[in-house]
Amino acid sequence: MLLRPTKMTPPPFIAGLVALAVSAMATAAPMEDLDPQIVKLVGAVSEERLGAILKKLESFETRSSLSSTDSPTRGIGAAREWIRQEMQSYSPKLQVSFDSYNVLKQGRITRDVELRNVIAALPGKSPRRIYISGHYDTVAFAGGQGNSNAGGAPGPRTTSLDPAAPLDNPAPGVNDDGSGTALAIELSRVFSQSGIDFDATLVFMAHVGEEQGLMGAWLHAKKAVDQKIPIQAVLNNDIVGNDRGGSRIVDGATIRVYSEGPEDSPSRSLARFVQRWGARYVPSHKVRPMSRSDRFGRGGDHTAYNQLGFAAVGFRESRENFTRQHDVRDTFEGISLAYLAQNARVNAAVAATLALAPPPPSVMNERGQPGITRAPSGYDANLTWAASPGAVAYRVFWREAWGPDWQHELAVGNVTNLILPNIQIDDHVFGVAAIDDAGHESSVTAYVSPARAEMNIKTSGH
Ligand SMILES: [Zn+2]
Repeated sequence: MLLRPTKMTPPPFIAGLVALAVSAMATAAPMEDLDPQIVKLVGAVSEERLGAILKKLESFETRSSLSSTDSPTRGIGAAREWIRQEMQSYSPKLQVSFDSYNVLKQGRITRDVELRNVIAALPGKSPRRIYISGHYDTVAFAGGQGNSNAGGAPGPRTTSLDPAAPLDNPAPGVNDDGSGTALAIELSRVFSQSGIDFDATLVFMAHVGEEQGLMGAWLHAKKAVDQKIPIQAVLNNDIVGNDRGGSRIVDGATIRVYSEGPEDSPSRSLARFVQRWGARYVPSHKVRPMSRSDRFGRGGDHTAYNQLGFAAVGFRESRENFTRQHDVRDTFEGISLAYLAQNARVNAAVAATLALAPPPPSVMNERGQPGITRAPSGYDANLTWAASPGAVAYRVFWREAWGPDWQHELAVGNVTNLILPNIQIDDHVFGVAAIDDAGHESSVTAYVSPARAEMNIKTSGH
């Protein structure tokens, strides 16, 4: 390694060699051997099991958050109890519970109601958490006129004259969001039965109240803030099981990943990670990162986590069929199990890599500013980061300061400071990831400044 992990400026002839080495190494993406444990885990996703879970979810007829809870076979009470028992049956290592809240009548919540997320934790060696989630609640217009306003977010309607009565009209919600729920349930099985000792704690989450304004996600994210629960990443899956668009275009080979800005936010970093590691472990499925919080005029649970400061992204099928959404026609017939399984495999590869890798390095200095300065040359970037627990090496990334994707990368040893010769600090964005002794790589932490303080200019008064 010619790069010198010191603050010294290399002599000119060394700097020239370093620049050559950097450009040669940076253009070829490193292709380490894949982790056979992760390959096996990804291969354990079962289309057949996904199908059985979806048929069971459909059998509850409605899973509206405002449906009756007194039937053992119909409505949200029966559904959440089945989800809890199903995940608990997979492994004694899974800690499955209800995450419950008493919510008062407000907005689209037409009466006081108890909302319960279903949460399954697979404890790791460290408390930091990686989430894979969907929402198990459903909504459909009574009368079956379909989601005529696909751009809006229609609230629940009822044929009942009493607005406080349970919303028990049929709302099968097999794709919205039985698909994301089945994905999370199936991955709770795959991960808990893998025999892998993960460093991070994995959490498989079925949110409630999404159709009433992301209620279950907001409440859980708020609790995480209040109780300082260290959520590192949320992979939220909502409408990920259909490959036949209402536009008649079929696409079973790609998945969209929506990501909140700005361009080097934790959410964008997570989206880039999904693209990088999805491509390695599931090369037959293409991840399409989207530089926007969600589809036009639509929303999902990942936004609640982003708004409260956590890194979250939203997986969405590439070609939606709006006529089935929020409608009695959202049935098992509209599902492609092969497509849903591919999306589950991408989630599995990404979550496993994140949970085995060290936590991403902090690049903030003691003054709360990114640890990047001008090298003594005046032109080069001098990067400093904090050692990440479990890391034995780091990888530095950079790109020209226009464009979304990292263009260059360089593996460096077990150092926490690096000067990149002849990579002008003014023209590039930089980031760094941590790597453990088995090659598991964290997400990339970018060197970006926090939001500016307010302006305070003294003037003479006229
Ligand atoms: Zn949904």
